[in-house]
Amino acid sequence: MKRTFLATACFALLLAHAPGALADIRLTDTIPIGPQVKVGKLPNGLTYYIQKNGRPEKKLELRLVVKAGSILEDDDQQGLAHFLEHLAFNGSAHFKPHELTDYLQSIGVKIGADLNATTSFDETVYMLPIPTDKPDNIDKGFQVLEDWAHGLTLADADIEKERAIVLEEARLGKGAGERMNKIVMPKMFNGSRYAQRLPIGQEAVIKSFKPDVVRRFYRDWYRPDLMAVVIVGDIEPARAEQLVKAHFGAMKNPSPERPRSYAPISARAATEAVVATDKEASGNAVMIRYPVREARERSTFGAYREKLVDLLFSSMLNQRLQELSQQANPPFIGGGSSLGKLTPRYKSYGAAAALGKDGAAPALAALVQENERARQFGFGEAELERSKKNFMRMMERQYNERDKTNSISYVNEYTRNFLEREEIPGIENEYAYARELVPGITLAEVNRYARATIPSNSARLVVYTGSSNGATPTPSPGELLAWVDAAAKAKVTAHEEKQVASSLMAKAPAPGAIVAETADKALGLTTLTLSNGVKVILKPTDFNNDQVFLSASRPGGLTQFAEKDIVNARYASAIVDSMGLNGLSPLDVQKALAGKVAGAGLAIGQYIDSVGGSAGSSDIELMLQMVHLRFTTVRRDEDLYKSYLGKHVEAARNVMAQPAAVFSDALIGTMYKDSPWVARPPRPADFSNLDMDRAIALYKERFASARGMTFILVGSFDVEKVKPLVATYLASLPTPDLPLAVRDVGVRPVRGVVKREVFSGSEQKSQVAINFSGPAKFSEDEQMRVQALIDVMNLRINDILREKLTLIYSGRMSGSLEKVPYEHYAIGMSLPTGPANVDKTIAAAFAEIAQMKESGPSAADLAKVKQNWIQVHRRALRENAYWLHELQSAVMLGTDPAAILAYEEKVAAITAQDVQAAAARYLDTNNYVQVVLYPEKK
Ligand SMILES: [Zn+2]
Repeated sequence: MKRTFLATACFALLLAHAPGALADIRLTDTIPIGPQVKVGKLPNGLTYYIQKNGRPEKKLELRLVVKAGSILEDDDQQGLAHFLEHLAFNGSAHFKPHELTDYLQSIGVKIGADLNATTSFDETVYMLPIPTDKPDNIDKGFQVLEDWAHGLTLADADIEKERAIVLEEARLGKGAGERMNKIVMPKMFNGSRYAQRLPIGQEAVIKSFKPDVVRRFYRDWYRPDLMAVVIVGDIEPARAEQLVKAHFGAMKNPSPERPRSYAPISARAATEAVVATDKEASGNAVMIRYPVREARERSTFGAYREKLVDLLFSSMLNQRLQELSQQANPPFIGGGSSLGKLTPRYKSYGAAAALGKDGAAPALAALVQENERARQFGFGEAELERSKKNFMRMMERQYNERDKTNSISYVNEYTRNFLEREEIPGIENEYAYARELVPGITLAEVNRYARATIPSNSARLVVYTGSSNGATPTPSPGELLAWVDAAAKAKVTAHEEKQVASSLMAKAPAPGAIVAETADKALGLTTLTLSNGVKVILKPTDFNNDQVFLSASRPGGLTQFAEKDIVNARYASAIVDSMGLNGLSPLDVQKALAGKVAGAGLAIGQYIDSVGGSAGSSDIELMLQMVHLRFTTVRRDEDLYKSYLGKHVEAARNVMAQPAAVFSDALIGTMYKDSPWVARPPRPADFSNLDMDRAIALYKERFASARGMTFILVGSFDVEKVKPLVATYLASLPTPDLPLAVRDVGVRPVRGVVKREVFSGSEQKSQVAINFSGPAKFSEDEQMRVQALIDVMNLRINDILREKLTLIYSGRMSGSLEKVPYEHYAIGMSLPTGPANVDKTIAAAFAEIAQMKESGPSAADLAKVKQNWIQVHRRALRENAYWLHELQSAVMLGTDPAAILAYEEKVAAITAQDVQAAAARYLDTNNYVQVVLYPEKK
């Protein structure tokens, strides 16, 4: 029941079939475990969770959750909890090294760098999604889980090989953030062991530990009393339970057993400040941390009710902080404050802000004073009502989707139950509890909670992190403390709540009409032609119960404008969006929509104009109103424009101090010969060309007309009920003439072999990019062949560059065949590595390319790619977002959407020869751009 919710949304109109209210809830009672899940414990102490769930179909999510992480490492084991997680894929009782990944890939599971396991301070979680179309898969899946739990080989040779890969992973984490963290973490954790046990560990240990040292960690901590097996999906619960007993029943706890204790964090006794700056830092920030409190989780209704109070409190406080950031001259770019979880056993109240041009002083003042204002004066009835509506609508949506919820979200819930004792009553019950408890939460109670929760006069840690470039002077610890002190002493007054509108549109527009209608039975589409010429495709589905997506696009984009307007056109839709809608500021829109779920926006892309929207099923009209208003109105607000501009200038200020930005800038500049039409990482100077009124004029030039748009709606709606709404809000859109052809402004990648080196960053980090591009005949079939080439190359990059040569931790090829603005392809490889390994990495990459041209992919690799595509596609066929995307692209490319249903045949038709030929066609070693990032020269 983890709840985070943002304020957007409505009238909590409860559905007719909503559960009845409970007779009464006794706050001292324990919240029961819901009937949807079977929770059990084996005699050896291993916990299991089992739930049968039908979404997605024919899939089983398995997890092995171990309550052990880096915090349990001995001094000679620093980094080995994580190292052990890597070794879980390198040989076990039933799978030789590589056999496990080979097997998983062969059944369609895609392996990413660390995609299927994570290690943190207090836990390690192994994830295994199993397609159940072959009955054997389930048994094998449990075998994998069992091997992880107590069957790892941990052979010397596999450990030796993995060292370089883990060191490459550590290299990726280095940089400004990591360097500043080293200064801040010991203070944050107030001297606790947590600061000394970052999961990535110590390089010296990773390089030289003796194999027995990691085996000791495995023996000590991978034991049944610290483990849970979570099973959700396509399986009969009785069978799942049988499999758990068969695979895990024989495990024994080691004897003697080391105590699994949680590292203490002592409450801060004295106020202090810490300043950490770095010349590669991207921006400046402040944070205030108050003393830790123990997170004593009680699973009673009383504790649950308190959690609800805390949620309402946090959403109101953060709404106020968001409001501050939208002033013309805001105290910070963005800020937040709440009581958050620091570790499984500790919470801490904190406040943080990203700084604007005026630096830390106004930001700290605003954070402290907003908290003081809430502590002294509390909140208002209107604020509380809005928060309750938003919360209840969120709960209602989860309830509505109760039979359409993905297995993964259940798995995550049960994992948190095991690790953090989060309650799991099931959404039917939880929604009933919320309906019973939320209305009774009074303003006086929330205000009492605010007084008790917001610390006053307590010790605190003030943290400043930022750039040492000198654009903003770095404050001293003494200054930080003085500013916080002064702010705490300053007098605050009660928050003033402005009257807000209750609707977006006072009066509906005069409706147009639907003039033609056709149906496509096979795809389940209804296509409407409206009286203004606009088309609408409706695809009602039962994939979800409370979800509707909308999109539309047409040729257009910023390339329609003259070169001098590029910057204004690029930012035009974001600027207009930042100023609100139809007379209301963005925050007033949020307030007016409390309890509703609807949003819509227009965007000027590179070569297209587009519309995007989403809504809950009861809020479709609202979403269409928003679409209508975005076409027909622009709200001009100089203060919000200044706020928008200030944030972007500030975000761009240190961009070129970051090695990743320098690299990407060099790559784009080299590829496209510095064409002004291609976006680069933005510099502050770019924004000096922005002009609010010009941006508005360009926005209006494109969006004063809806001509050429085909709107697509996909989701849980009734076609007959949507038709009158479409006639009212879309058929009434103006459609005067405007240019509707793609304008090719002549952006072309450089030809021939072009190599460039760039130098940035102080860490020993490099990045290699090798990009192939050029003209190519477009077709959907060819697009699939390009994708097949890319995916088999990714298998090779992982098998050879990572696993065999240990040159990289992660690295991949990506790309596509494009039709617009001319038919072409663009395929790139991105390979992060160490400076000393750059030449070897490039040579290895080209050797794989040569191999692919020479012999094509292996039958096994191509089969792995196809199996994964088919698995992904079968699931996607039950997703609204997938249909929206496919229908949209068929409209734009002029292709037949029926291809969606012929997908598996098309996949089957791809041969190894096709991929080999694609390699020869596209990976042309006489035509590519290679850019390499090296550390800056000393
Ligand atoms: Zn890792």
